[in-house]
Amino acid sequence: MSDISANLELIQGQIAAAAAKSGRTPDSVQLLAVSKTYPSEIVRQAFLARQIRFGENRVQEVLDKAPQLPPEIEWHLIGHLQKNKTRKVLPLCAWIHSVDSLKLAEAINRIAGELNLKANVYLQVNISDDEAKFGFSPAEIRQSLTPLANLQHLHIEGLMTIPEFSADVEKTRPHFAALRELRDELSNDCDLPLPGLSMGMSHDFTVAIEEGATIVRVGSAIFGKR
Ligand SMILES: *Cc1c(COP(=O)(O)O)cnc(C)c1O
Repeated sequence: MSDISANLELIQGQIAAAAAKSGRTPDSVQLLAVSKTYPSEIVRQAFLARQIRFGENRVQEVLDKAPQLPPEIEWHLIGHLQKNKTRKVLPLCAWIHSVDSLKLAEAINRIAGELNLKANVYLQVNISDDEAKFGFSPAEIRQSLTPLANLQHLHIEGLMTIPEFSADVEKTRPHFAALRELRDELSNDCDLPLPGLSMGMSHDFTVAIEEGATIVRVGSAIFGKR
């Protein structure tokens, strides 16, 4: 067995254990394999080990890799998207985790309409108020909710966050809990169910799952150090 398939198996086990700890089934949490910086041959190995969902943070990297790989792969964009790249990304990436402003959401909605598709998105929230991070502040997302909910070509699955890094995962846990609480509040206030919470990376995904993550974005724990 390759390292990659062994790592995937190990992580699936950790996902199942963390889900069980919070009274959920293993299939309530999806694993997104973050393949940024790794060549397509490595992605193919993970795909052959039955990993279907892959995340990339740069548009150009998805444009380069996707044509070299099986069409069954489901690509997720997890990095900041510039409006002028939307038209290229939408046909390739079924999911965009990094919708970080109302203006970007409106641009995606318009182009998805032109391309006659529905864009599946998460709204990125800067939950730990980190100046270096993209995302809606909780106040901004409350204000933007009604116009967001009216965008007909967007399917808003839920919220995504990248909390400020801490080596101590217990310091990150309150940020994950805060994203879940914000989701509960928003879905109460509008007609959007917002079931999805995209949160947790290699060093903290089990804690994210304990706090309600439905999709974890894991790179180095699968593929090794970048
Ligand atoms: C790189 C990246 C990850 C994965 O990070 P690892 O620490 O390698 O698991 C997750 N989310 C985003 C947005 C990233 O850019």
